[in-house]
Parts: sequence; structure tokens; C-alpha cells
Amino acid sequence: MVSEIKILKIGYCTQLEKMAVKNGRLKTIEFPATAVLIKHGQRGYILFDTGYGEAFFEAAKKFPYNLYKKVTPVYLKAEETVMAQLKKMNISAKDIKYIILSHFHADHIAGCRDFPNAKFLCSKVEYETIKNKKGFSALKEGFIPELLPQNFSDRTIFFEDQQIKKFPVVNTAFKRAIDLFGDETFYIVKLSGHTKGHYGLFLQDQQRKNYFFVGDACWSKKSFEEGILPHYFAGFIIKDKRSYQENVKKLYTLYRENTHIKIIPSHCKETLESLMEDQSE
Ligand SMILES: [Zn+2]
Repeated sequence: MVSEIKILKIGYCTQLEKMAVKNGRLKTIEFPATAVLIKHGQRGYILFDTGYGEAFFEAAKKFPYNLYKKVTPVYLKAEETVMAQLKKMNISAKDIKYIILSHFHADHIAGCRDFPNAKFLCSKVEYETIKNKKGFSALKEGFIPELLPQNFSDRTIFFEDQQIKKFPVVNTAFKRAIDLFGDETFYIVKLSGHTKGHYGLFLQDQQRKNYFFVGDACWSKKSFEEGILPHYFAGFIIKDKRSYQENVKKLYTLYRENTHIKIIPSHCKETLESLMEDQSE
């Protein structure tokens, strides 16, 4: 049973709004990075992605990783790191038992090294894509190897090895999902396109509210509300355009058929602000 879900904003980068939706402005906007803290009745605290972290700034001092910050300037206050926010809630690093990774872009994994007790849950396909990459070939994948702990592979469980079940909500877009812990609490959903092994997380809390954390499957709520795709400029951060577009369409269908599901893209400022407002009530 999922007893607690808290969305944390972990800094932001700036980009043109047009990157997220093609009818957007040629204006620089903030793209927040996020982590989600979830409490599972039996398994304890779990994170979905980690956002930026101190390790990012350390790694990005060196060439060629310093180019990452040049393309997307990153801002993170000391009190905004996952560690600082957990501390405020009296949760220590060793209380985090699992970290689910949507994909391996630096803005999703930069906090991984802060949690020595955590097991990592990720896509095998995604991990195979990046695991031996260094320097420019890593950077081309949006990946910085120094952000992962040295023993990462020993601590990792792959999505693809878990059981596949029926998608928990009736809809015509998504048929199946991975039952991550075999207890029908955490459903992992394939949303490839942005990267090859990119996945989202579907959850139902104690009040039977539905949340779908879709990572980078789209960058703005406009995408799934109105079916709008990103500008072609964003092509360089989309690995497979066809799957990306198919998944935006599926999210659009899911949203129209089930307006009660909260669809949460990692970097949508509007979605994040409204959720954080609900959380503080
Ligand atoms: Zn990404």
C-alpha cells in the first residue's frame, strides 16, 4: 500500500518554451527537475528519480561534461537538494530503500550517490545503452558516468525481469504494465521515445487517487491535454521520434478517458506548482 506521495522540486534549468510545445514562445522558461518521495507500507521510502544534486556540479566542472551546463544552464539552491529536503522531513539517506529511475539523463540521476542503502530499479535496455559510455559518447546520451555509484550494477534490479500485468485503469491506450514489487502497488509503464528504455510510474494512493509520473515522455501538460508535440528543435533530445509521438498520443487518450488520473511530467512547472500547492494544504 502506498501511504504517502510527495513531489519535490530539485532545482531547474532554463530552455526555450518552444522546446516543450511547438506553439510555445521563443522565450526562455524554467524547466524544474523533480524527485518523488513515496512511502510503501512494507518496503519503506522509495524515490522516483533524484533531480539534480551536488554530484552534478562536481562532475560538470570537467571537460567535456561542462558543456552540459552550457547547453542547459542549471540552478540549484543548497536547500533544494533531495538530501536537504529529506532532512527537513526527518528522513535520512539510509531510509531510502529503492530508487526508481525513469532514464539516465543527468537531471534524473544526479542524487543517486547520496543513498548508500538504496537498490536501483531501472530498465535493462536503458542501462545497456549507457553503461560503458564515457566522455563525448556519454554526453551525447545526456549521461555523466560519475553520477552513478561505482557498485551501481550490483545494486540494480531490472524492470524487464519483473511480472507484466494488465494496466490498472481501464483505457484504450495502455494495455499492460510491469508490477514492480509483485504486489500491484507500483506499476512501471513503457514510455520510450525520449530514450530507448524510458519508463513512467503509475501509482494509486490510500485514497485511491491515481498518479502517473511520466518522466520526460512529454514536457508540458499541454502535450497530453491538447495532444501537442514539441518543436522540431527538441529533436536532438528525442531518440526515437515515432515512439515519442505515439506515447504522447497515448497519454492524450488516457487523459481524455480518465480525467481523474494526475499525469505528471517531470519538468512541467505548471503541474508541479499546482501539486505543491495541494501538498502544502
Ligand atoms: Zn531526459
